[in-house]
Amino acid sequence: MRVLLVEDDEMIGRSLKQALEGAGWSADWVRDGELAQSALGDGGYTCVLLDLGLPKQDGTEVLRRARERGDATPVLVLTARDGLDDRIHSLDLGADDYLLKPFEFRELLARMRAVVRRRDGAAHSLVGSGALQLDLTTREVVANGEREALTAREFALLHALLERPGAILSREQLENRIYGWGEEVTSNAIDVLIHGMRRKLGADSIRNVRGLGWRVAA
Ligand code: CA
Repeated sequence: MRVLLVEDDEMIGRSLKQALEGAGWSADWVRDGELAQSALGDGGYTCVLLDLGLPKQDGTEVLRRARERGDATPVLVLTARDGLDDRIHSLDLGADDYLLKPFEFRELLARMRAVVRRRDGAAHSLVGSGALQLDLTTREVVANGEREALTAREFALLHALLERPGAILSREQLENRIYGWGEEVTSNAIDVLIHGMRRKLGADSIRNVRGLGWRVAA
């Protein structure tokens, strides 16, 4: 799963990016509001961590414009303790949740899971269709009642497909959801990943639609 980290503080940004990657997220880090805006425009993010006080364009402005464009990516605002008005304003603009700095990384991860879950329309931690479900807390796939552990990339792939069971996702869309900026993506990376998933979950778990992409059964 891919997260856009918007934070102008070097120390916070660096440590967050490192911790997120350690937790299996693919994290793109931008340091100002304009770059955040253009990164969001490219799409593919599972969630956004948004600082409010930013150079070039304020975090609330980034959020307002994204929601105006119809971008529904879950946004978790990271804010200072004294910014009550900003917090209220950002929630009114469409932020999904906020977290006061300084925070415990474990709590950040739990809130990220919660906003992603809500966007997926699930009140609990399982998302997906009948035969195939993902547990967002344990990162396991539940297939025909059996649980199986997934790598970070397998998880990101399956999460992208299970958000809209039945919909076809192209190679480019899948790459966009799985890999961050600057990550080396070989031309057959997606094929290798899907081959491995089929071995785990059965040949019919992920269907290929020739020339278009892949989908899971609706
Ligand atoms: Ca800031």
